Amino acid sequence: MRGLAFVLSLLILTRTGLPQEPTAPLIPNPARASPPPLPPAAPFTPLALPTPKASAQAQPSRTPAFDPAAATREWLDSIPADQKAKSNAYFEGGYWLILWNFLVNALIALLLLVTRVSARIRDFAECTTRFRAVQVMIYAIPYIILTAALFFPLTVYEHYFRERQYGMATQTFVPWFAEQLKGLVIALILGPLFLVALYAVFRAAPRTCWLWATAVVVAATFLFSFIVPIFIEPVFNKYTPLTDPKIRDPILQLARANEIPVTKVFVVDASRQTKRVSANVAGFLNTARIALNDNLLNQCTLPEIRAVMAHEMGHYVLNHIVKLAFYSALTFLVGFALTKAAFDLLVRRYGSRWGVRDIADPAGLPLIGLIIGAYLFLITPLSNTSSRVVEREADIFGINAAREPDGMAKIALKLGIYRKMEPTPLEESIFFDHPSGRSRIRMAMDWKAANLPNGTFDPSVGKPK
Ligand SMILES: [Zn+2]
Repeated sequence: MRGLAFVLSLLILTRTGLPQEPTAPLIPNPARASPPPLPPAAPFTPLALPTPKASAQAQPSRTPAFDPAAATREWLDSIPADQKAKSNAYFEGGYWLILWNFLVNALIALLLLVTRVSARIRDFAECTTRFRAVQVMIYAIPYIILTAALFFPLTVYEHYFRERQYGMATQTFVPWFAEQLKGLVIALILGPLFLVALYAVFRAAPRTCWLWATAVVVAATFLFSFIVPIFIEPVFNKYTPLTDPKIRDPILQLARANEIPVTKVFVVDASRQTKRVSANVAGFLNTARIALNDNLLNQCTLPEIRAVMAHEMGHYVLNHIVKLAFYSALTFLVGFALTKAAFDLLVRRYGSRWGVRDIADPAGLPLIGLIIGAYLFLITPLSNTSSRVVEREADIFGINAAREPDGMAKIALKLGIYRKMEPTPLEESIFFDHPSGRSRIRMAMDWKAANLPNGTFDPSVGKPK
């Protein structure tokens, strides 16, 4: 489902997932340079947390025995070697998949152009109707089906066989394939509509189309962020209100404390597809919705759940949807400007051979896909970094809201099943769209070492005398 998926996948950027790890260790605790005997906190045993109350009245002094670097090491060393090797292999395989996806996308585009299949579909569309918008729709449908079919070998490897090989998937082939078909149907509804808008802009303002095309993407992004939770997600998963007050109430309490206008928490049955733990906060203002997946609910303790949910609330409170939409607008602004220049250059040279006339000609869609695909491939480190920085912000918000450093560390270990825990700094800056497990645990331990006081207030009265 590429070609078009390059656009749609970026639109989906508006959804924020998972709890993350911080990028860089915070300031090392100057009080403790050497890694002394490890702290008593036993990694992986539930509920060893010093609750905020325990240190409530204490001065913000550093506990001399607590060394965040050593504590981080201890958490990391608690991962069995075979599990670590498996997670590294899985995640590093993902680096290559970025390359394969780019190459396959490019090959498919070239194939459609060189064989003039694209031109023939356009000719067919032009014979069928004289309405340009309808022509774009008629072109888009076979284009989407063809690219999805040609991409299928890579899709089935990446999203089915590989996920099963690493024990992440819970689906057998038939339900998995059925979901792919549902996705294709959705792409066949939304894709042509998006392309009609895009090509209207290409026809109306061929010179400045890069500017207007960006506006179309931004509008589609916002539209999408409304459509996805209401119409698309329910096609794949069920969202039901969480009823267990032991989990629901602490989450709502966290939401209230952070001015998030929700009265319900939803559980999504993600275990149908995967064993991954995740959660999200979607929507704006009063369309806000907090959801966690059933894997999180079933595999994690309350401190861990609070850590995850506080992170997600951070995305909401810090307006990350808007921020990411802005980044994606910038990305597309540059992307479309480059695309326009490269498109004109290539069409001048190869246009007659491919049967492509100009940017307003739908037959050139594979070429646009090729150029944008190459651009997005090249800026992978940049897009990952902008995401990682935002995730780190949510981590910082989350740890201060939930005050669950050990919960955060445990979740980082759980996410480490599919995300390399200890990358090199260069690797982290290029390939990580979330902070690594090590960075996150270090953040949690730095927070713990700082030993913040709770502040003084009387929770039982309104205005203290
Ligand atoms: Zn996040």
